[in-house]
Order: sequence, then structure tokens, then C-alpha cells
Amino acid sequence: MLLVVDDCPEDREVYRRYLSKDPQQSYEILEAESAEEGLVLCQKSYCEAILLDFYLPDMNGLEFLEQLRDDQWETPVPVIMLTGQGNEQVAVQAIKRGAQDYLVKQQLKPDMLQLAVKNAIKNSRLQTELVTTQERQHLIHTIALRIRQSLNLEETLNTAVREVRQLLECDRVLLYQSASKIEDKIVAESVETGYISAMGMEIQDNWGLELGQELTHYQLPNIYKAPLSNSYLNFLEKLQVKAILVVPILLSNEEDLPSKLWGFLIAHQCSTPRHWEAGEAKLLEELSVQLAIAIQQAELLTQTRAALQKEKELNQFKSQIIATVSHEYRSPLASILAAASTLKQNWQQLDKFRRDKFLHLIEDKARHMSELVSQMLLINKLELSKTKFNPQLIEPVRFFSKLMEEQIMTNNDRHKFIFMVTGKIEKFWADSALLRQIFINLISNAIKYSPDGEYIELHLMVSNSRLMFHIKDEGIGIPAEEQKNLFQSFSRGSNVGTIPGTGLGLAIVKACVNLHAGDISLESEIGRGTKITVSLPFNSKNQ
Ligand code: ATP
Ligand code: MG
Repeated sequence: MLLVVDDCPEDREVYRRYLSKDPQQSYEILEAESAEEGLVLCQKSYCEAILLDFYLPDMNGLEFLEQLRDDQWETPVPVIMLTGQGNEQVAVQAIKRGAQDYLVKQQLKPDMLQLAVKNAIKNSRLQTELVTTQERQHLIHTIALRIRQSLNLEETLNTAVREVRQLLECDRVLLYQSASKIEDKIVAESVETGYISAMGMEIQDNWGLELGQELTHYQLPNIYKAPLSNSYLNFLEKLQVKAILVVPILLSNEEDLPSKLWGFLIAHQCSTPRHWEAGEAKLLEELSVQLAIAIQQAELLTQTRAALQKEKELNQFKSQIIATVSHEYRSPLASILAAASTLKQNWQQLDKFRRDKFLHLIEDKARHMSELVSQMLLINKLELSKTKFNPQLIEPVRFFSKLMEEQIMTNNDRHKFIFMVTGKIEKFWADSALLRQIFINLISNAIKYSPDGEYIELHLMVSNSRLMFHIKDEGIGIPAEEQKNLFQSFSRGSNVGTIPGTGLGLAIVKACVNLHAGDISLESEIGRGTKITVSLPFNSKNQ
């Protein structure tokens, strides 16, 4: 729509005629006889450009421009000034005050006027676009700052959904993490009161959200025709979604590797169907870039913190080793020294029986010390992640029967062993040396901590594509409050009495199970016995 402000009706008619001849454009034209009337019309309707006569009965063109700027300070309408011959001086002044262009009435030709109007409108549109882009950049910058203020991932995600929802004025904003190792899930949400929360909703199978799909704009009724999985569409229906806007969150990699898909930033409109503006989609896309940076930053920090924590634990572990070594070594060493010097000084006086007793004592203590050293070397290697995981195909029943036979042979019938297998057990991938270590440590505990004559059971089975086995005894048990700590190095139960041990066996077992990406759990009742269950994935080859 154009506005012509001129007090001369003939002139207005000329402009109208000239403009109507433009084959590419057709304008709706409003007319005003005076400046006052023109300004009122400007207020009432949206004009794309104004053709303004410089000499008007109530004010001149410069005053009109000033008045117009006062009324419309945000996005002023472009003005083309029309002056009489010899008035170019005035026109130049008008341009300085913000008029877009000027034309001399007496020289006016149809194409000249058409071009001037077209240019004025085009320039003004470009100007508006520029302002919008600048405003958008500013907005993104402000939001990015808020999102990145926290280094805590959860807080970052929550701020992001809150800010985005406020910005788009929509009913729900979700962050859906699809790259999660555990499972796809909604990790943050901001929702308008009165609408259901999607947080914690079960997502059956994959949503079908993938990169490269045209998934930016969907609105009703098309939403349900979108190439998305049924479970996702059901999910949208449950949440009363009438329009969605989805953008991917891509984490950039170093070097030239392709970016990694982290998840999606999703906006829902539930109250009414909504057509998302291109600018809104662009805004969301740019925010997802900022969010990706914030996510990477937070993840990096978590990794660094974890590395620091690990370092701290290792340091603690080392000091503990030193403390234990000095403590654990002192008493057997003292016994060895005492026995050796007694033997040396009283060799002649001692009979064979006594000499053998001292020699046995020396042998026993030395063996204990050597065991301590090897256990510590082993755990040190495991803790420092220096142990290589070397999986090979193992036949579980045969593997464990051999180990059980070894135990039975060395046990001299002190305990009764049971070996049970439930179901058919296939071959599976495991590191035989580590698996042997797991078994030996667990069975030696069962033997060591149960009185002679009791049953010790090994039970092998399959459950949920995992190999499970437990070792169960009827021994002294473990006090309930101490059970959770026993997988840490050097921790021993308070009820062990004089039964020897270093407190490293279960820590070694745990580290070996972890290398298989398996789990270990413990059930025990004091005085009644202990059952330790290990579960290992059938294919831990790729862990
Ligand atoms: P070692 O390093 O020689 O194995 P340890 O047996 O004391 O020494 P772990 O195997 O790590 O060390 O066991 C830790 C503690 O857990 C034991 O000291 C004991 O208190 C308790 N424990 C482990 N297994 C059993 C079991 N089967 N019955 C009772 N207590 C147990
Ligand atoms: Mg042990």
C-alpha cells in the first residue's frame, strides 16, 4: 500500500496513472490532501512508501518528515519527496533528514516514478531485514551467555529449554538425547502450566528422528503424516501436540571428522496449530549451535574432573599401599627374623621337630609376603588400567569344571563342592586369565571364610544374554553395614578374626569384572553364609 500526500488533485491523479502502468506491480493507493491527513493515515494503515509533495498547505516536507519520525521511530516508512523545478536544494535537505529519494514534478515520467517507488520499498525491506538479523544476533548472544553461564550440564540444559520456550512463546520445549549410550531419552523440558509433562515418559523403540530428514516444520494435520515412527506419533498425540519444530544438536569434532548427533531441540505448540516462521526455525537452529558448544564445554569439564578424581584416588591408593606394606610386612618379617636367628643361635640344641617348626614358620610367612606383593602388583596394574583385555571364545562349562577340579584336588576334602549348570550354555567371549582370577579369588574366599565340612556351590546359568554365575558358601558371612565397602582395596570385614588376608581379592575381582563390562553383587548374612553373583555379557569383545 502506498500513500500519496499532495494537495493538488491533478498531480495525485498523474501519480496514480503512472503507477498503474507498472506491469509488474499493482499498488493500493491512499491519498491525502494535507500533511495532517497524511500523518493520520500513516498511523492507521501500514504503508510501504509515501509520495510526498514538498509544499503542503499546513506544513512543508521537512516538517512532515520530522513529524513522521516522531510517530514511527522504529521502522520508518520510506518517503519519496516530490519537488518543483529549481527546488533541488530543498530536496537535498530532505534526503539529509531521512527521505529515501526525490523527484522533480515537471520531469516526472511513468518509469521513473515506478522505479523510485520500487527501489524505496526494496531498500526499506533490506533495512528491516538487517535490523531483524542484528536483533536476532543480539538475542542469540544474550541467550547463549545465559546458557553457557553454568558448567553443570543439567543446569545448562534446563536453562536452554526455559529460554527457548520464552523466546518462541510456545507451549513446550524438549531436549531429546539420542546419542546417549544408555538409551534415548528426554533430558530437559520446559512446559506451559496446564499441559502434561513429557519428562520421564517411556519412549518405546527409536523415535525415527534422524539427521537429514525434513523434520524442521511439521504442523497439524501434516504432523501425523510425517516420516516418523508410530511410537513418536503416539507420543505427540498423547501430549496434545498441534505443531512441532525440530532442530538437531550436532557436536563438532576436532579435525575434519563429521559432526556427531547429540540429540534434538524440539518445540511444541499445543494450544493451537501454528505455522512456524522461517525466522523462528533459523533462531532455533542458531541456538542449537550455541547449545552444542555449551554441552561440549560441560562434558569436557566432567571428563577433566573425572580424570582429576581418578588421579586423586590413585594417589590415595598409593599412600594406602605404602601404609599397608609397612604394616603388613612388619609382623611376618619380625617372625621370620626371630625364627631365623633362633635357628642360627640354637641350631645344635634344637631337635629336628623344633627346627622343622621354625623352618615351616619361615616358609609360611615368606609365602604370605610374596602373595601380598603379587596381589599388590596385580591390583596396581588393574587400577592404572595397564591390564590389556584379551578376549577369546571360551566354553564356560568346560572352563569352570577344570577350575573346580583344581580346587577339589587341593582342598583335601575339607569342604563339599557342588557344581551346577542350568540350561544350555553357549561359548562366550571372555579373557580367560581375568576370568580365572575372578573365580580363584571368589572360591578362595568361600573356602577361607567357611568352616570345614560346609558346602561350597558354583552355579552357572544364562539370563538376558548374559552369562551368570554365583559362588555360595555357608561360612561366617559379612556384617551388613560393611558389605558395600568390601570391593575397595584393603577393606576387610570386622569378623575375620585371625583368618589371614590382605583385603585385595575382591578389589581385583571387581576390576576384572569391569574389564568385561560385567556386574557383581553380594548377598550375605552374618553366621549363615555369602553368595557372590557375577554377570558378564556374552559378547564383551567390543567393550
Ligand atoms: P585376600 O587379598 O587375601 O583375598 P581378603 O580375603 O581379606 O584378602 P578380599 O577377598 O578382598 O580380601 O575380601 C575382603 C573381605 O570381605 C574379607 O576380608 C572378608 O571380610 C570379606 N569376605 C569376602 N568374601 C567372603 C566370604 N565368602 N565370606 C565371608 N566374608 C567374606
Ligand atoms: Mg580374599
